[in-house]
Amino acid sequence: MPILQTYANVDPYTGVLTLSKIELIETIILDIPTIRGHVLSMATMRIQTAVLVQIKFSDGSVGIGEGTTIGGLSYGPESPEGIRSAIDTYIAPVLHGRCGNDVNGAIQCIDKSVKGNRIAKSAVECALWDALGKRLAVPVAQLFGGSVTSEMPVAWTLASGNSDTDIAEAQKMIAMRRHNIFKLKIGKRSVREDVAHVGRIKKAIGDEGSIRVDINQAWSLADARWGLKGLQDVGCELVEQPVQARDRMAMAELTSSYEIAVMADEALNGPEDALAVATDKAADVLAVKVAQSGGLKRASEVLAIGQAAGFGLYGGTMLETGLGTAAALQLFSTIETFRWGTELFGPLLLTADILAEPIVYQDFCVKLPVGPGIAAGLDPDKVAFYRRDRERTSIVI
Ligand SMILES: [Mg+2]
Repeated sequence: MPILQTYANVDPYTGVLTLSKIELIETIILDIPTIRGHVLSMATMRIQTAVLVQIKFSDGSVGIGEGTTIGGLSYGPESPEGIRSAIDTYIAPVLHGRCGNDVNGAIQCIDKSVKGNRIAKSAVECALWDALGKRLAVPVAQLFGGSVTSEMPVAWTLASGNSDTDIAEAQKMIAMRRHNIFKLKIGKRSVREDVAHVGRIKKAIGDEGSIRVDINQAWSLADARWGLKGLQDVGCELVEQPVQARDRMAMAELTSSYEIAVMADEALNGPEDALAVATDKAADVLAVKVAQSGGLKRASEVLAIGQAAGFGLYGGTMLETGLGTAAALQLFSTIETFRWGTELFGPLLLTADILAEPIVYQDFCVKLPVGPGIAAGLDPDKVAFYRRDRERTSIVI
């Protein structure tokens, strides 16, 4: 029998991975301050909370994953505390003792025991892929067919809540050659005020950058009709989730009625939604998010539907730390074209990076980290410092 290429955990004669059982699944909640208030239509973020998942296997290998949402429970139905509870109480027990190499089997097993809770599932699944990649000594992208790009355009979100501050921030990003695609978070003020705000920023940066907006579902259909008309007149190129996620008919009307591109975000919770959005022609662009889709595999299915249906693709984020960002990069790097780029800037919004080697941003792009698994290693001191349950020194006066 020919001897196959030898990897750390592969039998050299059969090519079969040695058994590595799932022994321990740990979760840690991290609270990391943002670099400024991040003003959204439904909340203002000053801290981002991430749930870190570490899975330890019988062969000594370890996989890591992240489950993160935006603004506590104001964005969607899962909170950081709920994500942790779902993993600790319901997901970890059904995975204990299973073969770690059987990622698809683990996904099926979790789905039988736990409905919904997509972000929690995504965090665990990511840790399983990470460990499998490490055991095989290949990047996770290789497990999805291999990378076809090593960098992707990356947008920055302007969300200070103030036009002058946003203009200064945009001009600084252009000068640094870090970002020239800007997404403005609007929907908190009146439509008229928001359109004026967007127009001021577009006028200030001119052709040096492009402007998009995210309403995070805040508008009624009537608001959105005025909003989209005004936004395209001031040079905004795309509007993200202007109305409620469940209102696909309104999204379809807006998509067909205006030149400005309409993007679905909160409406997309996996391939089933992507198919429904495609059937109803309820967007021009899909914001594909790993966590919101329910994991890397389901996100890959959203991407497949998006490509087949001719949508423009956009690599979305839940404002994850470098860990979740690295996982998304692994999957997104397997797609030839994200026509609308990505918004994988989460680590840049935080005052600290929990990765030992931060993700690189330069020349308006985010770079795919190189290494096995999701190619991300934790900085243990940072994790210890930002964990919610760390021992704190209190001063008694
Ligand atoms: Mg969005």
